[in-house]
Amino acid sequence: MMSDRLFCAATAKEPPGAAAGSAAPAEKPSLIGRDRQELAHALTAIGVPQRQVRMRVAQLWHWLYVRGVASFADMSNLAKDFRALLAQHFTIARPEIAAEQLSADGTRKWLLRFPARGAGRPVEIETVYIPEEGRGTLCVSSQVGCTLTCSFCHTGTQRLVRNLTAEEILAQFLVAKDRLGDFPDQEGLFGARVRREGVAAMRAAARQGRALAPVLLDAAEEAESESAVLLAAAGRKITNIVMMGMGEPLYNFEAVKKALLIASDGEGLSLSKRRITLSTSGVVPGIYRAGAELGVMLAISLHAVDDETRNMLVPINKKYPLAELLAACRAYPGVSNARRITFEYVMLRDVNDSVDDAKKLVRLLQGIPAKINLIPFNPWPGTNYQCSDWRQIELFADILNKAGYSSPIRAPRGRDIMAACGQLKSASERLKKLEREALSAGREQASA
Ligand code: SAH
Ligand code: SF4
Repeated sequence: MMSDRLFCAATAKEPPGAAAGSAAPAEKPSLIGRDRQELAHALTAIGVPQRQVRMRVAQLWHWLYVRGVASFADMSNLAKDFRALLAQHFTIARPEIAAEQLSADGTRKWLLRFPARGAGRPVEIETVYIPEEGRGTLCVSSQVGCTLTCSFCHTGTQRLVRNLTAEEILAQFLVAKDRLGDFPDQEGLFGARVRREGVAAMRAAARQGRALAPVLLDAAEEAESESAVLLAAAGRKITNIVMMGMGEPLYNFEAVKKALLIASDGEGLSLSKRRITLSTSGVVPGIYRAGAELGVMLAISLHAVDDETRNMLVPINKKYPLAELLAACRAYPGVSNARRITFEYVMLRDVNDSVDDAKKLVRLLQGIPAKINLIPFNPWPGTNYQCSDWRQIELFADILNKAGYSSPIRAPRGRDIMAACGQLKSASERLKKLEREALSAGREQASA
């Protein structure tokens, strides 16, 4: 697992005993993941008087996304009978955390279980948190499995089980914030209010060009609302989100858009769009839509510099070849040297790692404000690819650096908890193998 910068191929598995088509208990509808208008409709439907709806939506929004409560009972400034009315019709409960792991390097991984939707089965997906100096990145999944079949990606060997809903995408963020203690309590908010003046002073200092703590400064600069300023002043653990878990986010556009707009809403979770990165294998029409409707940072899983190689590594290239992909990147709104597009490039020995490839890459990206993430390939059982030699990766990086590109080589994170990219599916398969072994050992004992 790596950072921003980072990516993970999250996994999905069917929980033990989940039978096909098994009926889930009737759940109350959740209020998480709805935009303001949908919340207003929900409140109107349970009889909240029209003149109160706006105020109620604002109150709910604050409790759900600034304070992060997971129970209506905790919404202490709402009348008891109103809380009871909400609880009678809706839920705001978090999904079940099936497992939580902490790596020696501080990386955390959660296995979340989501209920069946319709006639489907319950599903499980992984979300990974990577702390680094001055930042903390959450790697979020958009689908269970993937319809695409990139030949070096373990997720690509799994069929698509289903799209995640906006609620489920957002829930990954909320659960991680719960577990990291990243929602401020009343006292924290009060303290932040006091520190606000400090932030204002820092902004003033920044305008005069004086040196400052970069994270706080960034947060303060990006803050567009009272909540955002307060959260910036309170400090936070999750500073960045990357849609780099399992799935192709642009093939689940509506849900991803809704979840990310809520994550970046200045009256709620207040994560700046500059700190949210959507990674795509190259769904060209989706890139134009994301530019027009979403405006988050873009990462492209490039991995090759000619169509022939890319067709083999990232087969969606047959539908949207390199020229179209790069044209969409050139047209992406808001791209500048301060807001670069990230190009991910997995280093595969003798496939895409020659000096000539590096030179072609430089030519290909000409004119696009870009940074290039070189990703040492993470092998998985059954793959025919190998990671490039370290020396070759450095040679490749040198050529890019000399051409003026920032091209960090990303060290995997969380290897000991199988959180590195491409390892996650093997983790669940290994579990299944262990489960199988445990079962057969049990049977042997029983028959002895
Ligand atoms: N589906 C989206 C989001 C997934 S991001 C996309 O493809 O962009 C996951 C990133 O990790 C992608 O760049 C993907 O190509 C890369 N990746 C997948 N498997 C990998 C592996 N085994 N080793 C290194 N990188 C891998
Ligand atoms: Fe893996 Fe992304 Fe390709 Fe899907 S689109 S197979 S998640 S690399």
